[in-house]
Amino acid sequence: MLYKRSSALFQEAQQVIPGGVNSPVRAFKAVGGTPIFAEKAKGAYLYDADGNKLLDYINSWGPMILGHAHPKVVDAVVEMAQKGTSFGMPTEIETEIAALAVSMVPNIEKIRFVNSGTEACMSAVRLARGFTGKDKIIKFAGCYHGHSDSFLIQAGSGAVTFGTPNSPGVTQGTAKDTLLAMYNDINNVAKIIAENKNEIACIIIEPVAGNMGCIPPAEGFLQALRKLCDDNNILLVFDEVMTGFRLAKGGVQELYGVDADIVTFGKVIGGGLPVGAFAAREEIMNHLAPLGPVYQAGTLSGNPLAMAAGLAMLTELNQNAEIFDSLAQKTEYLHKGLSKVMIENNVAHTINRVGSMISIHFSETPVTDFETAANANGENFKTFFHGMLREGIYIAPSAFETWFLCDALTYKDLDKTIDAAATVAKQLK
Ligand code: PMP
Repeated sequence: MLYKRSSALFQEAQQVIPGGVNSPVRAFKAVGGTPIFAEKAKGAYLYDADGNKLLDYINSWGPMILGHAHPKVVDAVVEMAQKGTSFGMPTEIETEIAALAVSMVPNIEKIRFVNSGTEACMSAVRLARGFTGKDKIIKFAGCYHGHSDSFLIQAGSGAVTFGTPNSPGVTQGTAKDTLLAMYNDINNVAKIIAENKNEIACIIIEPVAGNMGCIPPAEGFLQALRKLCDDNNILLVFDEVMTGFRLAKGGVQELYGVDADIVTFGKVIGGGLPVGAFAAREEIMNHLAPLGPVYQAGTLSGNPLAMAAGLAMLTELNQNAEIFDSLAQKTEYLHKGLSKVMIENNVAHTINRVGSMISIHFSETPVTDFETAANANGENFKTFFHGMLREGIYIAPSAFETWFLCDALTYKDLDKTIDAAATVAKQLK
């Protein structure tokens, strides 16, 4: 495949945009090479600036669960754009999508829309602090909750890909209120709580982690967190920015049967437009301005185009909930196929999968937390990434990310992916 035009566009972009990208992981720095510039996308395929056709397992990092440019989503956006693109006034569609989201997800009675997952998580933590009157939060190493200050403490995703899990610019004053726990290690969480008695407002977690590759919660881990929160008057915040409306209609709460106090959303909820949201039971949400003292706002929050795309997406998922099972089956098929070719080629690997999220780490031992993810073979990942790309398969350019499957993907596409992996596996150590 040729990337002549992408290379030229990247050169130009670097003159005026730091690193040539508006979000770091897009730069391919972790795997080397030139980022690919997108031209358009349809269904499961991307078409780049050089005219290459790529089978897409990133899907805009999660939102495109139905595939790119789904006609219902596109039509909804076009129809709304003709009426206006922003009003700064309440609109009926905001209530419609809020009511639908509340009906799909357990334990939430009110929801507020923002413009990104970062905003959703930042606001959720402020609300938890305002509600409990406590300052500290617990987050897990390798979990990513957006780029706001309190979360850039041993963060996953791009932060760790670029070696800056603790970013300069975050003050010590902020950092001291974020306590760091180990994913899947309940004793560690219990110890931190005991050492900070009556000081912790919330525990925020990716209940299925997707920012150190895909890492499922160990059996009973989420339930044990719930109990620790109940016993210590701490709110449990599920960051479902990746998992919400993807792993099940009601997200991880439904899938694992564990109740969260506050849930954050992003990605799928906006149908590919910039949307995030946070939600909780009424008692908590009523602490927000204008009803309560916790301030949170946004000029473009509830933007009509974004709401139209999100409503079309959620409506489709609500009406065709079998999509979640069908996606999980496709992902299982992919998992089996990839495992088979890696075993045939004696490549040490671990594949983790939940629903339509899957990732491969080149590791001999199970990958259950940040440390085990970081110990995997990075050189093999680079070779795998570039090999797959040469075969026309586009996966995330970092092992600290998850692949997302979309409904438009066919079994023929999956076979093509497995065949590509069989070719590439021969080059791995
Ligand atoms: N939380 C999680 C779990 C995420 O994966 C992300 C983004 N990948 C965010 C929060 C931040 O969302 P955004 O990039 O929309 O700010």
